[in-house]
Amino acid sequence: MQSGAIRPIPNMLPRKLFTSEHEAFRETVRKFYEKEVVPNIEKYEKQQHVDRDLWNKAGELGLLCTTMPEEYGGSGVDRLYSMILIEEQAYAMDSSTGFSLHSDIVANYINNFGNEEQKQKWLPKMATGETVTAIAMTEPGTGSDLQAVRTTAVLDGDEYVINGSKIFITNGYLCDMAIVVCKTGNNEKGSANLSLIIVEADRAGFSKGKPLNKIGMKGQDTCELFFDNVRVPKENLLGMEGMGFIMLMKELAWERMLVAIICQAGAEAAFAHTVQYTKDRKAFGKPIGTFQNTRFKLAELRTEIDFCRTYLDRCMELQLEESLGVDAAAAAKYKLSDMFSKVVDDCLQLHGGYGYMLEYPIARAYIDNRANRIYAGTNEIMKELISRTL
Ligand SMILES: Cc1cc2nc3c(=O)[nH]c(=O)nc-3n(C[C@H](O)[C@H](O)[C@H](O)COP(=O)(O)OP(=O)(O)OC[C@H]3O[C@@H](n4cnc5c(N)ncnc54)[C@H](O)[C@@H]3O)c2cc1C
Repeated sequence: MQSGAIRPIPNMLPRKLFTSEHEAFRETVRKFYEKEVVPNIEKYEKQQHVDRDLWNKAGELGLLCTTMPEEYGGSGVDRLYSMILIEEQAYAMDSSTGFSLHSDIVANYINNFGNEEQKQKWLPKMATGETVTAIAMTEPGTGSDLQAVRTTAVLDGDEYVINGSKIFITNGYLCDMAIVVCKTGNNEKGSANLSLIIVEADRAGFSKGKPLNKIGMKGQDTCELFFDNVRVPKENLLGMEGMGFIMLMKELAWERMLVAIICQAGAEAAFAHTVQYTKDRKAFGKPIGTFQNTRFKLAELRTEIDFCRTYLDRCMELQLEESLGVDAAAAAKYKLSDMFSKVVDDCLQLHGGYGYMLEYPIARAYIDNRANRIYAGTNEIMKELISRTL
């Protein structure tokens, strides 16, 4: 049984976010996933990354860096287009493509903090898929505690010399460029020591590990990056030296919303597959969907999913108005990733033994969903952020 195909839950509360232009774009994205991605998921999972030319195909259709200004190759549209791209990926039950990190995170850093030259140099090539990008924060010794980053960048004449390593980097294997979080100072206040530096993958001393062997999201390229006296011109600094932490904090709220969107749409897709399954599968001479336990379980899940959708769409409205609080974004990420895990667990149970078989989309969703509670800040860190506002 293949991923994709089943559209999300009927009869959910109607959404109010999208116009007919958004819906037309959604159709393009849906077809792209149906035609280019879903038939290749097994291949991507075997090789542990998507085909390189998938990036170019996505670029040709205007599916990369869509929200970037037109003068830099984007379509200059609102972030609902990013939401649609992520939702369609989740409805296709694909976890291989790392487009969102490239388009919604890396491109935003360059657009928001880069100078004119950096924007001209990188954004158009990112929009066509000619350049694949990553963001490298996490290190073997530190993830949640970003201020403890040990990869150093030392200014030597007109160049930074970078030494250290990064781990768990999405798009790391295929990336042509990474924004690397480096330590550039020794201030007592750790947050003032971090800087963001653009590092091209073909710089001498920059090497990549093999894709990491994850329990899920097997088709998504995730790897280690190593920096051994990598020299980059000081013009590769993004924004100002020592401002890295502040830049990261500014973008992390949106990054958390991206995860919340994945989780909401992922839960809807898992649920839709399960409703169908309970209609088709028979036990004791009748569809398992007729048993009271199944009906009540599905009713509970549907209610929970609908409630979360309402919260998320409201957060999205605030995001569009640029007034979404860090705590609300953290709450969306934490609550919706927990909800997604619960939904897939219950849905798998309703599949019986078949739910444990990888050819069933619910089994893949079960293992894929787990990372959402970890990356973009663990859910414990989300609770930390929420509690600080009380
Ligand atoms: C599939 C995948 C893709 C990823 N992609 C990227 C990427 O593209 N770029 C990137 O930079 N990173 C990426 N990451 C890394 C991810 O962001 C980190 O794994 C995450 O931030 C947690 O860091 P850590 O693994 O070092 O865990 P740790 O920070 O060591 O945490 C271990 C445990 O301690 C808890 N903990 C830590 N601090 C506190 C605290 N103050 N209070 C309470 N509990 C705490 C955590 O919640 C967790 O349960 C990815 C990870 C995965 C799994």
